[in-house]
Amino acid sequence: MELEVWGARGTSPVSGSRFNHYGGHTACLALRAGEDLVVLDAGSGAAALGEKLVRSDIRRVHVLLSHFHHDHVMGLPYLVLGAGAGRRLAIHACGLTADMLRDSLYRLFSEPYFPAQETQLFSGVSLHAHAAGDAFSLGEGTRSGGTVAVRAEPLRHPGGASAFQLAGCGKALAYVTDIEESPEPPPALIELCRGADMLVHDTMFTGEEIETRRGWGHSTIEAALALAEAAGVRRLAGFHHNPSHDDLVLSRRDEEIAARRAGAFLLREGQVFHI
Ligand SMILES: [Zn+2]
Ligand SMILES: [Zn+2]
Repeated sequence: MELEVWGARGTSPVSGSRFNHYGGHTACLALRAGEDLVVLDAGSGAAALGEKLVRSDIRRVHVLLSHFHHDHVMGLPYLVLGAGAGRRLAIHACGLTADMLRDSLYRLFSEPYFPAQETQLFSGVSLHAHAAGDAFSLGEGTRSGGTVAVRAEPLRHPGGASAFQLAGCGKALAYVTDIEESPEPPPALIELCRGADMLVHDTMFTGEEIETRRGWGHSTIEAALALAEAAGVRRLAGFHHNPSHDDLVLSRRDEEIAARRAGAFLLREGQVFHI
């Protein structure tokens, strides 16, 4: 499977030369498995992904939304438009009913907040609402390995959010973002991440910053390292970078996390990994 980073920032997009190295777009990762593309969140980075999809040979696009905060959905309409004709497009979210999923999307992307009729924008899209902690599979499976098994786990975050484990081709990716820091890694999350080839984890705050940001629903390098250790993951990738942390700050934190665990680093927009 191939993982491409379209946005690694959290909360709000940023731009300017101080942010070029790690990138300014918010949460969006794309995992390719054969003719299937699984998109983890559709933050501002999803708009550029939508443009690329217009010319790609991807046949099915599956969007997994961790939750509906703006930094995770603001690029969704452009991804939907880019995926367009000739491809099947599905949106999945967990911990809510089908009505809640449809209402949340329709409310976000219709007048007066968005210049389209919601029924137009989502007319060709299949919406899938799953129970919290559900397991399901994506794709039809091909010789090149198009089937991805998904497991979800609810996270402590204002309004709720879900972590995902994606497994395919004998490899696994764990995606744990927008999670309130806890002193010990939650047992259910250790299980979700156990043995993963890569863990992408919220590292928004420093150990000092978190003291005045309790209840904001975000985490630290220390908590990410503790979960990586408990679950025995191969690589740890810090994610959901604070918009007030420029390249100078993030490169220092990158060195710090690498020094504390082999194979740990901060994700950068534009990176591509083979998992
Ligand atoms: Zn977020
Ligand atoms: Zn959030």
